[in-house]
Amino acid sequence: MKKIGVLTSGGDAPGMNAAIRAVVRQGIYEGLDIIGIKRGYAGIIDSDFEVMERGSVADIIHRGGTFLHSARCEEFRTKKGREKAIEQLKYGGIEGLVVIGGDGSFKGAQLLSQESDINVIGVPATIDNDIACTDYSIGYDTAMNTILDAINKIRDTATSHERIFVVETMGRHSGFLTLMCGLAGGAESILIPEIDFSIENVCKKLKHGYDRGKLHSIILVAEGIGDDFKPNRDVSHSKAFALSKEISNRMGFETRVTVLGHLQRGGAPTAQDRIMASRLGAVAVKLLLNGETNKMVGIIHEEVKSFKIEEALEGQKEIDRDIYELANILSM
Ligand code: ATP
Repeated sequence: MKKIGVLTSGGDAPGMNAAIRAVVRQGIYEGLDIIGIKRGYAGIIDSDFEVMERGSVADIIHRGGTFLHSARCEEFRTKKGREKAIEQLKYGGIEGLVVIGGDGSFKGAQLLSQESDINVIGVPATIDNDIACTDYSIGYDTAMNTILDAINKIRDTATSHERIFVVETMGRHSGFLTLMCGLAGGAESILIPEIDFSIENVCKKLKHGYDRGKLHSIILVAEGIGDDFKPNRDVSHSKAFALSKEISNRMGFETRVTVLGHLQRGGAPTAQDRIMASRLGAVAVKLLLNGETNKMVGIIHEEVKSFKIEEALEGQKEIDRDIYELANILSM
């Protein structure tokens, strides 16, 4: 193998830059030519390629986002689109590819490796941390710290004004971020898609606190709870607003909503994300050199391991219910 490409795809995550840097520098160290592909799979189809030198990735390890840019590419979901992509990769002499992204990007990587002789390795990067076969994905730790920072600030004002704050975090299908931040941030209630909740219990807990003289509370809500929570669908597309209104109506308390939104995706990656991104990116290159394909790299008990992409796509990462229980007990 002489030439490999690297791209970032799907939602951006802090630490993607550190992963690109690792792929580029490890690749150059191994004597490979490295091509940076802009805008994920769309950049393959458009042949948006750039030769990477050591200096191309200088001064990016500490930056959030991805300097190669990311995109969602509908065309790549079609066989025709992928045929175009394969043609461009072949034309560019690219024999191996490192795909840094989430599970959607992994599905694309799997198809690319099955439909061509280009070797493909996936590196998990998503703040949701919902990819199986790895304890953590790149960006998760930074996003947790960003959310905690926001909760700390909200707590100051919640305490000063004796108010209930409903704080909405990212996580359409997965509650990892919300659960861990709820535990670390001391949230009074944590509502996530994986665990059923009742508005009665949320209110009961608030009442219990109120009876003890506690006049402020933080309720942390993953955006994905929406599907089961429909008391006020017309109020807003955000379930945090619906929930807040319902609590206010039932309890007569003043409530406020903060939707953290995209700020959760930004910021300088934490040490943990940079270290993990560096390790995973470097191993991805080594796997390509070993002739491996259709695999992903992950961190299991602090060790870098590789798995078939299929295992990651089919595996289900489970929420730790003991942690949910613990957060519940500690916030009584
Ligand atoms: P995040 O977890 O942040 O959403 P992701 O990688 O899961 O990241 P997606 O938008 O699901 O993000 O996927 C990124 C891109 O991967 C898509 O725009 C598409 O180009 C490609 N992709 C996703 N699913 C498939 C699929 N089933 N077949 C082919 N390509 C796919």
